[in-house]
Amino acid sequence: MAYSIINGKELSQKIQEEIKEKIACLKTCPHLAVILIGDNPASQTYVKNKEKACQNIGIKSITYHLDKDIKQQELEDFIIELNNDKQINGILVQLPLPKHLETEKILSLISPLKDVDGFHPLNTGLLVKGSENAILPCTPKGIIKMLHSVKEDLSGLNAVVIGRSQIVGLPIAQLLIKENCTTTVTHSHTKDLSAITQNADILVVAIGKPDFINKEHIKKGAIVIDVGINKTDNGLKGDVDFDSAKTQASYITPVPGGVGPMTIAMLLENTYLAYLNQTTP
Ligand code: NDP
Repeated sequence: MAYSIINGKELSQKIQEEIKEKIACLKTCPHLAVILIGDNPASQTYVKNKEKACQNIGIKSITYHLDKDIKQQELEDFIIELNNDKQINGILVQLPLPKHLETEKILSLISPLKDVDGFHPLNTGLLVKGSENAILPCTPKGIIKMLHSVKEDLSGLNAVVIGRSQIVGLPIAQLLIKENCTTTVTHSHTKDLSAITQNADILVVAIGKPDFINKEHIKKGAIVIDVGINKTDNGLKGDVDFDSAKTQASYITPVPGGVGPMTIAMLLENTYLAYLNQTTP
């Protein structure tokens, strides 16, 4: 069966161009504050990529690189300072945080209006309620845009999500329900996974295990979204064995060049929307 690739890189660039044009018409530019704590090399790379993307489209971004031993209270005080700074429209705390810091407490201190990652409990609640006012988490928001790029109406389709994390699995399941998909969430305790996934018109895989999903799991003609980013000796791998899965799928996302670039585009969009929300009377 012929398959097509959903090119996240191209789609992301198109979205970034559109935001850039809109920002060029503004009187001032949106401003993102990024907090990076410690020396995690992967986090440093992610932050650099985000900075570069901001710069390219006219968002001012400042990274605050804080010491790995920063005390919880100091970090909380700093976030409150950024919340009160009217010049700053978006605040992003790069995860994971060092173990001595309370991640949930930190994320819930960020003003929900500046929560461009969409991880604040208020935004999570609005997402569950299906509210248009929620700031949506970037990866799930990007996945919905990718799906719409190949199929306008997702209504009535069977969607299966593998993984139930707070940042990917659970929110994408909520968004798929909002799209009127019949949505099943699976996880590490799921029995006979392939019996469930073989029924999926849309399969979203967010496990964190390279090449875990193959053609045996995939219904003929399914749309397969691979969220996984796994560093292996053979380079960066998704959670889906691409060469095997493509024999069954109608559409499939590559790794790299799939969901990853869309996550960045959605961060930029969320920052732009947060700016509008804060500056429009
Ligand atoms: P987590 O580790 O938080 O969650 C993994 C999920 O997979 C858990 O819910 C776990 O189940 C489930 N799982 C593990 N093993 C199995 C199994 N054998 N069968 C079914 N389910 C299983 O990961 P994340 O959601 O944070 O990330 C997933 C992947 O996506 C990672 O590779 C990560 O790097 C990548 N990622 C990519 C992004 C992007 O922009 N492209 C953004 C964010 C993440 P249980 O809950 O029972 O433990």
